Amino acid sequence: MENTVAAYAAQSETAPLAPFSITRRVPGSEDVELEILFCGVCHTDIHFARGEWGNSVYPMVPGHEIVGVVSAVGSEVSKFKVGDNVGVGCIVDSCRSCANCAEGEEQYCAGGTFTYNSPEKDGGVTFGGYSKKIVVDQNYVVSIPDGLPLDAAAPLLCAGITTYSPLRHFGVKTGTKVAVMGLGGLGHMGVKLAKAMGAHVTVLSHSAGKRTDAMALGADDFIATNDPEVFNTHAGQFELILNTVSAAHDLHGYLGLLKRDGRMVLLGIPEPSPLAAFPLVMQRRSLSGSLIGGIRETQEMLDFCGEHGITAEIEVIPMSGINEAYERMMKSDVRYRFVIDMATL
Ligand code: NAP
Ligand code: ZN
Ligand code: ZN
Repeated sequence: MENTVAAYAAQSETAPLAPFSITRRVPGSEDVELEILFCGVCHTDIHFARGEWGNSVYPMVPGHEIVGVVSAVGSEVSKFKVGDNVGVGCIVDSCRSCANCAEGEEQYCAGGTFTYNSPEKDGGVTFGGYSKKIVVDQNYVVSIPDGLPLDAAAPLLCAGITTYSPLRHFGVKTGTKVAVMGLGGLGHMGVKLAKAMGAHVTVLSHSAGKRTDAMALGADDFIATNDPEVFNTHAGQFELILNTVSAAHDLHGYLGLLKRDGRMVLLGIPEPSPLAAFPLVMQRRSLSGSLIGGIRETQEMLDFCGEHGITAEIEVIPMSGINEAYERMMKSDVRYRFVIDMATL
């Protein structure tokens, strides 16, 4: 017997999202069932719903910034109990035996299962958080620390961990000169987290009007990149740039902002994707990528946010407002994460 669950789905690349009904499995012995309270809206949801990466499967139920309350647990579940506040991010399963899994880097597992648009082990395709309920193995569920508001904590499950992981991996500490490119969902979390790690943080934005917000989020400096002169006046300043830009752009000028041996981490995945050899070669700069973060590190990030009182800046929307939210994100008009109130579905 399966559960029928209300959801919102895209039926094609061009169709607006609309009400849809899905089935969730009855919780197995290791499964946790969540009643979803809030789901953040990631730009990845737009790339997938609109088929921008060429691998979309329809109907598609996006959403991987899921916060909910545990409504049922299987007989072998030890980590959670009914009533707990929990989160599910971008990964709901992995092979559990490869080197990536053994090292807690499940996001890089070749046999991993993403929260939506991903083949299920038992056939079918996964459906994400724009829905009333989800059933997930307990090993891929994380705890939301007490004291964090549940709506503003939802974006931590993707935007938070995606920026936290490279900041940690590349050793950001007190005084590290970090720049964050693009002040959207990922970018604004990058600013807050880098600041909490003690970094000196600069925002690089193509929206000059975001200066006041950037400073209020804790940035030390703001550079409006629509003035090409800034690429000369600020050349060679940063040790690490987190690139969260969701649209095609030229990297040359931005790479020149790095110090010798500086590194840009690509987090945004626009299509077409940018590459630029010259500024890398001339100063031994590196360009890296990074994919979300593993389950252990996601819990570590949530605990860090609990200690530091860090959540996202959000605008709560009803489920029916999702198509308008996508349009506003395409215009870089999100301050700074839309979160769907699932009680409205
Ligand atoms: P978002 O909230 O829509 O923010 C993207 C920001 O990019 C915008 O707010 C804007 O900031 C900037 N931008 C947009 N168009 C631009 C342009 N033409 N030139 C320069 N800057 C532009 O998106 P998000 O949810 O943060 O996601 C950002 C990207 O990261 C997406 O491609 C998403 O798929 C990807 N992502 C990757 C991972 C990972 O694991 N690597 C995880 C999650 C998301 P300004 O107005 O400040 O310029
Ligand atoms: Zn995401
Ligand atoms: Zn694996």
